[in-house]
This record gives sequence, C-alpha cells and structure tokens, in this order.
Amino acid sequence: MQSKDYTPWYVLPKRKCQLSDFDTEPPSKKLPSNSELDDHLVDMGEKLDKLQSTLHAAKTRGLLVVFQGMDTAGKDGVIRSVFTHVSPSGVRAEAFGVPTELESRHDFLWRIHAKAPARGEMVIFNRSHYEDVLVTRVRGLIDEKTCQKRYDNILHFESLLQDAGISVLKCYLHISKSEQKKRLQARLDDPRKHWKLQPSDFDDRDLWPQFTQAYEEALSATSTPESPWYVVPADSKPYRDSFVAGLIVQTLENMKLKTPKPSFDLSKVKLS
Ligand code: ADP
Repeated sequence: MQSKDYTPWYVLPKRKCQLSDFDTEPPSKKLPSNSELDDHLVDMGEKLDKLQSTLHAAKTRGLLVVFQGMDTAGKDGVIRSVFTHVSPSGVRAEAFGVPTELESRHDFLWRIHAKAPARGEMVIFNRSHYEDVLVTRVRGLIDEKTCQKRYDNILHFESLLQDAGISVLKCYLHISKSEQKKRLQARLDDPRKHWKLQPSDFDDRDLWPQFTQAYEEALSATSTPESPWYVVPADSKPYRDSFVAGLIVQTLENMKLKTPKPSFDLSKVKLS
C-alpha cells in the first residue's frame, strides 16, 4: 500500500500497486493555471529540443518512451503536444496494433525489439510490448502461466536495452472512467472524430475492472528502480502534457549528455 499522505507518481518496485491510490486529476492545492501549464510546456519543449540534439550528437545513450493507458487516455494527444518543439528528424513514433499473422508467429518481443531506439535516438511507443500482458490477458488469449513468464521476458528485455545505454521511460496515462465517458461522447458527437472510434473502445470500456486489474498486476510486476512506471494524472490534458514533458526532460538531463569533441584540430581550419 502506498501512503495517502502524499500523491504517489510512480509505482514502487516490488510493491502491489492499486491504481485507486493514484489521482487521475491534478493535485487541487497546487494546480497551476492552464496558461502557466502552457508556458511550462513551451519551456520544456525548448529544453527537450536541445537535449535531443545532444543525444543525437553524442550517440552514447538512447531513450525509449512508452505510453500505455485505457482508450482515450491521450496517447496520441500527449505525443502531439510534447514533441511539437522537437525536430521531426530527431524522434520516431511507433504504434502497435493487433499483431499481423507474421508477427504472431514470432515471439511477442520480435516486432518490439525491431523498433527499439539505437544510441542517439529517441523513440516513442504508442502502445507497446505491454499489450501482450494486458489486452491478451483480459481477452483470455494467454493463460496465467504465460503472462507471468512474459513479465520476466519484459524485465529481461528492458534490462538488455538499459545495458546498451537505452533508458526506458514508462508512462501510464491514468484517466477516470467518467472522463473516458466524456471523451467517447465527444467523439460520438463530432463527425470529424468518428474515424477514431472502434467497436473495441466500447467493448473494452465494459471490461474496465478487468483492464484495471491487468494494469495493476503488470505495473507491479515490471516497475523497477531503473525503470519505474510513472502514473500520470491524465484527466486534465494540459496537466498531463506538462507532467510528461517534465519527466522526459528530467530523464534526459539525468543522462548528463555531452556533445562530442571535434574529431580534428579546429584551430588549424582556415576559411577561404
Ligand atoms: P489506438 O486504439 O491506440 O488508437 P488502434 O485503433 O490501431 O489504436 O488500436 C490498436 C488495437 O490493437 C488496440 O485495441 C490494442 O488493444 C490492440 N493491440 C495492440 N497490441 C496488441 C497485441 N499484442 N495483441 C492483441 N491486440 C493488440
């Protein structure tokens, strides 16, 4: 159990997490205004741009940012808002849907590993290898034993990436069921958003308790000191975006990246 005296932002390693311990709304006492959040986001975006350039130049480290969450939690939205200030050549976004016939004949990490960042790269996963212990579990596509085995596979995989200099930043976008209702209704009401709707959005909503339980187990099993799960309050979009931007900047700053020294003596250069 996490204490309710403070708002937990991440899942403590080796502890059973209960999502009800985490707020979906921003902390009401110190809630900044939307314009303050916008300013913070711009500020973070500028920092992110500079850090990404250094990451690219140094090629000593890489960053994988994983976004998971219930339907409408804002995976697309946060990616759009947070990465607007970064050069498009500096970041790659990958989305994972239902595995293709070929993908499902491979181990579940095959398609994931192929899209992982190299040193020098920043890659965003919109859904990820975690789908293989979430939707698959809720829909009964895998049994309990396979699921437990996959948690181990995931821990080893992420540890392999870390050993290669790739940090894995995992964000669970935490929305309430009532906020999801509002967002689904907004999509139903706006013909321009109809394309976003899938029958599974409504089926999965009916399975909210099962998805919550699957998330709680997956987050508990895979939150580690090197790569904890951050539980992002996501009912407020400006707060969510600002929170995630701050996390990414902090992760890159912790890498203490340095631009490489020139490979030749610049003092000898004579410009004609
Ligand atoms: P989104 O809902 O993220 O906007 P899509 O409409 O393309 O994107 O939906 C992707 C769907 O693929 C989701 O329903 C998700 O649960 C499903 N999916 C992703 N990975 C897997 C997986 N490994 N096994 C089964 N289903 C998966």
